[in-house]
Amino acid sequence: MEKNSVLIVGTVAYDSIETPYGRRERVMGGSAVYASLSARLFSKVYLFSTVGEDYKEEDLNTLRKASIDVSYIKKIKGEKTFFWEGSYLENLNEAVTKKTELNSLLKFETKCDRKLNDVEALFLANIDPELQIKIVNQLKDVKLKCFDTMNYWIETKKEKVFELLTSTDLIFLNEMEMKLLLEEKNVYKGIEKLMKLGAKGVVLKRGEYGSILFFDEKMFILPSYPLKDVVDPTGAGDSFAGAFIGFLTKEGDYSFPKMKEALIFATLLASFTVSGFSVECLIKLNFEDILKRKNEFLSLLV
Ligand code: AMP
Repeated sequence: MEKNSVLIVGTVAYDSIETPYGRRERVMGGSAVYASLSARLFSKVYLFSTVGEDYKEEDLNTLRKASIDVSYIKKIKGEKTFFWEGSYLENLNEAVTKKTELNSLLKFETKCDRKLNDVEALFLANIDPELQIKIVNQLKDVKLKCFDTMNYWIETKKEKVFELLTSTDLIFLNEMEMKLLLEEKNVYKGIEKLMKLGAKGVVLKRGEYGSILFFDEKMFILPSYPLKDVVDPTGAGDSFAGAFIGFLTKEGDYSFPKMKEALIFATLLASFTVSGFSVECLIKLNFEDILKRKNEFLSLLV
């Protein structure tokens, strides 16, 4: 494995998306795809997932061209790729899921090569928490372990989500997910509850209102990058987390001050993702664009 690398586990999907800006059918999506396309701007990325026979070579090539290692993506014969259909017509801050077809996810192969323990960081992007547990249990040597989840899994496998809190270093979740998980409306009380339940750190995403980091008994609050046009919010959370982890891995430092800086990059990457449909903006992005936006963003903060 390359030094300073991140292993990203999650869905590689086809999405159909509807937003006030239009509709796209069966475009590239999946939590691991967004997270990887974001993290690769900072560190070497290995993407671990399972797809169906219908997953296009052309889409794998898009990932390869972005310097993502796709050799841990398994193709299952006779299966279809995970499919998700979502709409943002009612609320740009929260998708309404119209359809989830698990397909190849039901045959997800969790067996990890021993050498995967050599990666610096593990990001368990949004996927079935039972699969996340199986993976994290095989990768005990990895320095930084983070996970993300969503309402679909909190509603169906809440206990498994709680189990992940104690076997990882950071949980990423949004405000709605926190309410669903803990039945707690106040975000600060929610964070306190997560820590009591065994979380070491929490990154709370609040859509257009920014994010909160809680780690090492310290808190940091950051607004979102101001955007007038949000074209497609899909993948905002995944690319946010991907940048956060990718940046920390590059730095090789998992302290609270570094995490504050990582949160800035996370915020910027999410802002690029939502400015186009699917992965359109993310694949075109380079580090110079990010630094330019970073300076602009910093000039707005105290
Ligand atoms: P985000 O907008 O960051 O929450 O992530 C959106 C991505 O998550 C989409 O590209 C979907 O393919 C993927 N997704 C949707 N539902 C699920 C699910 N139940 N489990 C894992 N990934 C999902």
